[in-house]
Amino acid sequence: MSNLRFKVVEEAFHKRPVEVNVPDRRPSEYFAKYVFNKAKMFRYLPLSVYNALREAIDNGAPLTVEVADEVAKGMKRWAMDMGATHCTHWFQPLTEGTAEKHDAFLEHDWKGGMIEEFDGKALIQQEPDASSFPSGGIRSTFEARGYSAWDPASPVFIIGDTLMIPTVFISYTGESLDYKAPLKKALAAVDKAATTVARYFDENVTRVTVNLGWEQEYFLVDEGLYATRPDLLLTGRTLMGHESSKNQQMEDHYFGAIPERVQSFMQDLEIQALELGVPCKTRHNEVAPNQFELAPIFEECNLAVDHNMLVMSLMRKIARKHGFRCLLHEKPFAGINGSGKHNNWSLTTNTGVLLHGPGKTSADTLRFLTFVVETLVALHRHNGLLKASIMSATNAHRLGANEAPPAIMSAFLGSQLSALLDEVERSEGDELPSMQHKHTELLDIPQIPELSIDNTDRNRTSPFAFTGNRFEFRAVGSTANCASAMIALNTAVAEALTDFSRRVDALRAGGRSLQSALLAVLREDIRACKSIRFDGNGYSDQWKAEAARRGLDCETSCPLIFDRYLDEASVRMFETTGVMTRHELEARNEIKWETYHKKIQIESRVLGDLSMNHIIPVATRYQSQLVDNVHKMQQCFPAEQAAQLCAYNIDIIERIGRHTSIIAEKVTEMTEKRKEINRIEGERALAVAYHDEITPFFDTIRYHIDKLELIVADEMWTLPKYREMLFIR
Ligand code: ADP
Ligand code: MG
Repeated sequence: MSNLRFKVVEEAFHKRPVEVNVPDRRPSEYFAKYVFNKAKMFRYLPLSVYNALREAIDNGAPLTVEVADEVAKGMKRWAMDMGATHCTHWFQPLTEGTAEKHDAFLEHDWKGGMIEEFDGKALIQQEPDASSFPSGGIRSTFEARGYSAWDPASPVFIIGDTLMIPTVFISYTGESLDYKAPLKKALAAVDKAATTVARYFDENVTRVTVNLGWEQEYFLVDEGLYATRPDLLLTGRTLMGHESSKNQQMEDHYFGAIPERVQSFMQDLEIQALELGVPCKTRHNEVAPNQFELAPIFEECNLAVDHNMLVMSLMRKIARKHGFRCLLHEKPFAGINGSGKHNNWSLTTNTGVLLHGPGKTSADTLRFLTFVVETLVALHRHNGLLKASIMSATNAHRLGANEAPPAIMSAFLGSQLSALLDEVERSEGDELPSMQHKHTELLDIPQIPELSIDNTDRNRTSPFAFTGNRFEFRAVGSTANCASAMIALNTAVAEALTDFSRRVDALRAGGRSLQSALLAVLREDIRACKSIRFDGNGYSDQWKAEAARRGLDCETSCPLIFDRYLDEASVRMFETTGVMTRHELEARNEIKWETYHKKIQIESRVLGDLSMNHIIPVATRYQSQLVDNVHKMQQCFPAEQAAQLCAYNIDIIERIGRHTSIIAEKVTEMTEKRKEINRIEGERALAVAYHDEITPFFDTIRYHIDKLELIVADEMWTLPKYREMLFIR
């Protein structure tokens, strides 16, 4: 019998790094080679058109059809100079990926030939036949029209022969069917609210921009091993597999030397990402074996989100070229770390001031405090919603598990900032207590220069941590579209800041000085949001109990967490800021529940199939061999001696019998349960039933499969083992 597993393991073991085509220039020279950025706009557009487009990009000014037409002409010339023949609107429907439909630039020339054409209308707006994108019932199939509309704030780029145009995707009736439309509305809401507040401190502020720096974690697995694991192939994670004797306990992978084949993949990925304008900066090994991270430098939030979507698709594509598969699932392997996507978030004004970062003067410090405290207010008021914004069937494996932030939102500030908040809260009068800067420590190490020690410590267990000049939202999942978290966070901050300026203005109207009014409202807010601050160990059980006492949202069931989107406070927040309507929120929740139930349904089917046609047959075959051996031994030896010599094999025969019968019984029960549940009407109820009644089977069935993996002869086991998938590269 030939075992495919051994073949793929051997092939994987002997693979060499794939040669990378390294440009003969510096990264700064090929950066954004395939992007129609401002430098190219300047070159390809008439000056008046360039200026109008710049106004639209930098200040959100509207664009006329005439200007768009001129932009399209310049864009087409550039694209054709670059060898492009097609264009597509590129959008982010409410699935996990992006969508595109390519059209050639070709049109009839009405002389029997064709000419290359691309007009402003095709740039601004397209009508993808959109009936098979999720809409949560907003757009029923008989009214299938959806529109994609150009987003000038995210520059077009070329992949292969195609000009890619970032767009929003909306329904015929104007509702958002994607992530980008509400994100842009949320960013506009923050701009408006934060500008009003920033002007208390500097009248020259006219615009506030949101920055996002994401850090993408991922696993690489050899593609041969991947192909022989149907669970990885169909669900993105392993539904079974005993942990490897060695995994991450030696702590030798994090920041370790990058394996050669992986290094070559990373190099290829970075070159291509840089050429597409993604400012790649950091790469390293992560904690788990075969787990890695890529982080670019932060950018304006809308652009950063597009770049993350682009990088995820590049990762998948380039991994294949290098004989790997890239796993973006939050928890591909049990028992070792999962993957997240930290979202580093901050605000910048047009005057260049980062709103987070303690100042030198007391006015700066007051500004800094205002934005920190109002961010905490947002997180506190909507902690359930923010959790919902990062929750999914896949991220649920990470949240609450031991290496990830718990399924409870809290903020870590570090001891100094916490002390400052406490002092302000206790203080009276109109003077601001001063923030103590930690002084540069002198290290007594020869030849090592002085280090500047950060004002904040690190706390890896916190889902939302202040890290010096930004908040780091760590609970975001590795597969997620960052926009989901960014929509919720930015909208909540916009609401908090609006509320803040309303109260400050009311006090001032009553005769209080600005500083006095600011301090009064800040004190009130520091008090009100205190329960969201937690600097201790977020993984501990004490914290779970404490968080419940503090009234924070501690729900762990994914479908029930989605309910937070429809809380009255959430609906009011989204409606008053103009980001989403109740109807849109309801529709999006339908999609979330539906996606959840379908994912669990697929996992349940795959687990059932693998149990019945991989695990049980293999285990039974091995068992038969043992039975055969015992029979033969009985013929060779006197009964008593045979019994003694066969005791071990008889025990294994019995154990295999026990495990296989439990697996078969549980799979049958799970299948029956699915049939029963599938009759339930309504997406929410279905999702809840799948969560409550199907997922509990997974651990039980897996437990028995993993036990079998330990006792069945290795040469018979067909599925690549953890030690192979995690250590061969
Ligand atoms: P780590 O937290 O892993 O040490 P890094 O220091 O490498 O991460 O930074 C992570 C991300 O945070 C990067 O994308 C970086 O550009 C981004 N970042 C740094 N400063 C800011 C800021 N003020 N606002 C938003 N993102 C920032
Ligand atoms: Mg970080």
